[in-house]
Amino acid sequence: MSPAALSHSEQARRNFDIRALIGAASLCVLQVATSYGHGYEVAEVVAILVAKVVFNTWVDRWLISRIGGTPGERVRIAGNTLGLLLMGHLQAWPLALWLWLPFNAMITDENRARQAWLNLAFLVVVVDAVALMEGVSVALPLGFSALTGICYLLAQARQGFIESMLREREEQNAQLQQAHLEMEALHQRAVMQEKLSSLGLLSAGIAHEINNPMSYVTSNLKDLMADLPRLGTTPELLEEYRRDILPATLDGLRRVNSIVADLRRFARGDPESLVEYDLNEEIRAAARIAQSRFTHDRELRLELAQLPHLLGRPRQIAQVLVNLMINAAEAIGETGSVTVTTALDGERIRITVRDTGVGMDAVTLKNLFQPFFTTKQVGAGMGLGLAVAHGIVRAHGGTISVESEPGRGTCFTLSLAQFPPPNLPLGQPFPEERPAAHAASP
Ligand code: ADP
Repeated sequence: MSPAALSHSEQARRNFDIRALIGAASLCVLQVATSYGHGYEVAEVVAILVAKVVFNTWVDRWLISRIGGTPGERVRIAGNTLGLLLMGHLQAWPLALWLWLPFNAMITDENRARQAWLNLAFLVVVVDAVALMEGVSVALPLGFSALTGICYLLAQARQGFIESMLREREEQNAQLQQAHLEMEALHQRAVMQEKLSSLGLLSAGIAHEINNPMSYVTSNLKDLMADLPRLGTTPELLEEYRRDILPATLDGLRRVNSIVADLRRFARGDPESLVEYDLNEEIRAAARIAQSRFTHDRELRLELAQLPHLLGRPRQIAQVLVNLMINAAEAIGETGSVTVTTALDGERIRITVRDTGVGMDAVTLKNLFQPFFTTKQVGAGMGLGLAVAHGIVRAHGGTISVESEPGRGTCFTLSLAQFPPPNLPLGQPFPEERPAAHAASP
């Protein structure tokens, strides 16, 4: 397995094992060196060391899997104690041999045996006792036993410290996940509120849009009711109804139907999964909803290129576009125009919403994607539109940027991926990194 494929804990374990191995190898070399010049003794020491390595590997690979970690560790301690005693006996207890005691204390792993300190104490007591019985001066076992104790306490303290750090990290992780969930919920609410706010802003205009055709439809039908008795006898009147009045009435009803259908579509939530959609159709629907904000002197133009179908959440995209169109309509004041264009840009789709309005100053440009930032009067804007728009666009694997200059208008550019990355959460509440904003001529 490559190091990159290892988890952090596996990597740490492997690093620990490598260092323990280097430590053990150094002690072996030191021990062989202390017997330098005595060929027979060197052979004995090497034989014991090799036996120790084989024994430890056997315990690790075979015995522990059969009898469990704690009994296996005891067998290992017993075997190693025996090896140390044998070496001490054969070499007359040199300093290098005593170094094994603190070394064992340093690499003691609480996870391998719950009573690691007992195993270690057993090793120390047995080695000390046998060495003393063989006439070693008291200072040696005393000094190395004290060092072993200190090393053990330090190793344990370090392990405790690492464990508490890990616990803290886990808690922080859980808190972060909780915060993330709350942010997601907050975003869903913000999207809904923003949609309602747009509908609120548009409602007077939409009511007018519906009222207008409805008034002449009603008037035409009233006339029809009054003229019905005369229709069979007056062919000119019948012809007028066939040619003008009834088609106009039908057209009025169609307009009302399409406004109501667009509104229902807009207000409905998106499906859970991503769907294929026609971006140009969404732009046309958004334009019909925002149309009430435009009059003869305030024009909304669509210049839509032929596009492939996209994958995403069409209602959210329509929401972004309605928001951009309303903002643009407000920015142009009494006269001006807003032009929405689409274009295929390599593998991506570019949408621009350009207006000839008031433009933005540096402060607005810097803050416009911040939640609740608005330059509008209380009740006219919540300051959520662009923050939500940015979240939606980003969740579709897209970007949103803006160029603006005071007095010369604004141009928002959206770049959407045809297929959004599958694992991106659809709806990142509020942008952490701000999209590009330029104070330049659109
Ligand atoms: P709201 O419309 O509720 O204020 P938005 O997030 O949609 O919230 O917009 C934030 C601010 O960005 C607006 O208050 C306005 O100052 C500025 N803004 C957005 N679009 C335009 C535009 N096309 N021209 C000028 N200013 C704009």
